[in-house]
Amino acid sequence: MEMLEERIRRDGIVRSGNVLKVDSFINHQMDIALFEEMAKEWKRLFSGKPINKILTIEASGIGIAAIVAKEFNVPVVFAKKSMSVNLDGNNYTTHIKSFTHNKIYDVIVSKKYLGPDDHVLIIDDFLANGCALVGLLELIEAAGAHTEGIGIAIEKGYQLGGQIIRGRGIQLESLAIVESMNDQTGEIVFRHNN
Ligand code: 5GP
Repeated sequence: MEMLEERIRRDGIVRSGNVLKVDSFINHQMDIALFEEMAKEWKRLFSGKPINKILTIEASGIGIAAIVAKEFNVPVVFAKKSMSVNLDGNNYTTHIKSFTHNKIYDVIVSKKYLGPDDHVLIIDDFLANGCALVGLLELIEAAGAHTEGIGIAIEKGYQLGGQIIRGRGIQLESLAIVESMNDQTGEIVFRHNN
């Protein structure tokens, strides 16, 4: 998506440790007009799919997912991260290794908000190694719900997540795919499939 790539080129900052900072428009301050354009693009890319729920993970996915939910006119649920899980049987639970914090979190979704009638579109800000998405897919499977697709704002195409998810036959639509980035020069190269 041209608009997102341009914004990343202009305002994204490449940090050492393979981290792309997009705090000025996605991860801290949020550009809602940009999110609305991204949501429209996903609506087009997933048209014809019977999506009735958006699922994301706290915290950074929530802003984008909320705008996507408005575009699809469906509810949005976010999986909650916690250091200790209350095993009371009311939640689906999995573990996710955080790319940015290098910690393992328990992640939960209440059984009240995800179930067999749900046709889910997962939305998240970044795709790196795919740990967050694999965890969310486990929660959907545990709930007996259906994964209709995954929308990612920025995929780091040189990490393995995209390959893992596409290898499972899931429709994955990343609006910008970073082919390479250089923390010395700040240069970011995008991948285009066409
Ligand atoms: P994964 O689970 O795919 O390895 O990593 C995905 C999660 O890590 C995303 O939800 C995002 O919060 C975070 N993340 C991964 N790479 C980056 C990055 O380069 N920049 C930022 N800001 N977050 C990242």
